[in-house]
Amino acid sequence: VFNFAAGPATLPENVLLKAESELYNWHGSGMSVMEMSHRGKEFLSIIQKAESDLRTLLKIPSEYAVLFLQGGATTQFAAIPLNLVKPDEPVDYLVTGSWGDKAFKEAQKFSKAKVIWSGKSDKYTRIPSFEGLEQSPDAKYLHICANETIHGVEFKDYPTPKNGLLVADMSSNFCSKPVDVSKFGIIYAGAQKNVGPSGVTIVIVRKDLIGNAQEITPIMLEYKIHADNNSLYNTPPCYGIYMCGLVFEDLLAQGGLEEVEKKNKKKAELLYSAIDGSNGFYRCPVERSVRSLMNVPFTLEKPELEAEFVKEAAKEKMVQLKGHRSVGGMRASIYNAMSLAGVEKLVAFMKDFQAKHA
Ligand code: PLP
Repeated sequence: VFNFAAGPATLPENVLLKAESELYNWHGSGMSVMEMSHRGKEFLSIIQKAESDLRTLLKIPSEYAVLFLQGGATTQFAAIPLNLVKPDEPVDYLVTGSWGDKAFKEAQKFSKAKVIWSGKSDKYTRIPSFEGLEQSPDAKYLHICANETIHGVEFKDYPTPKNGLLVADMSSNFCSKPVDVSKFGIIYAGAQKNVGPSGVTIVIVRKDLIGNAQEITPIMLEYKIHADNNSLYNTPPCYGIYMCGLVFEDLLAQGGLEEVEKKNKKKAELLYSAIDGSNGFYRCPVERSVRSLMNVPFTLEKPELEAEFVKEAAKEKMVQLKGHRSVGGMRASIYNAMSLAGVEKLVAFMKDFQAKHA
């Protein structure tokens, strides 16, 4: 099937085949990666290679630590304020969708968090101009969600925080294009969209920000503990980290993130132009300049046809096209591992469906 799920999402077939070929006996060790001690030399080589390949892919400067954690991006919603600020310190949130809103609500428990802009009244279809943005003068950081998975809104460039740091949830566009890591204090992402299975959360954090956690911070949320122990303080999600490592190898083999971005742009352009060229039969509500390359939400002019659209697409082996329960409509997630052939097939199906029902 072509799987358009928003996450956990489709993974590259060659990565799955490689994992299958090594499932029972990793590199002649006689063990599956699932059976290895996380402190043994085999697993150490796996996690070190995964980190080093990710550093190459994103050109991560040496002043940044890379952490492989658990708990999903949702856990980072709390870990970020806990690690970066004191409870009475101000921090800013720019809310361009549901995930940014969730991050803000969690941060309120551990900081003086403020929403400096919200797209809620426009149903999260745009990103404001950075010039007019009123940031709190003393905010320690500015948090954004770089790609809103549900609403399909993606930052194409980034605001510069007045004084503090830029912190970004990149869960749904991580490793989909090159990023200048040095612009950020923290980048974090759940793996289960672009780089692996669920269960692994990647945090890229500038090293000078580590070590100032609030006293109440649970040990599992303290960046210093994980950085000092190379992500091996407790048992990490070993198999997931191994799978992420295979994906990083694959992305490097494709020519790195510049090449990956080219492919992603081509797929997204194809799909958005099919939507825009449908004379209103399909509609994408998101302002053109900030449309996501990864998650493409669209509605039908006749909403009563939506269930049929999803059903008919599934018959043709295109699955998981139903929009998020909170917004309805359709959503095609076209992460790195979705092939151009998958998007071409979807576009052909959309044209057929329109011809039948227009
Ligand atoms: N942030 C974004 C942008 C997401 O898309 C998601 C999940 O879909 C999350 C955060 C929550 O991630 P997790 O389920 O890994 O906690």
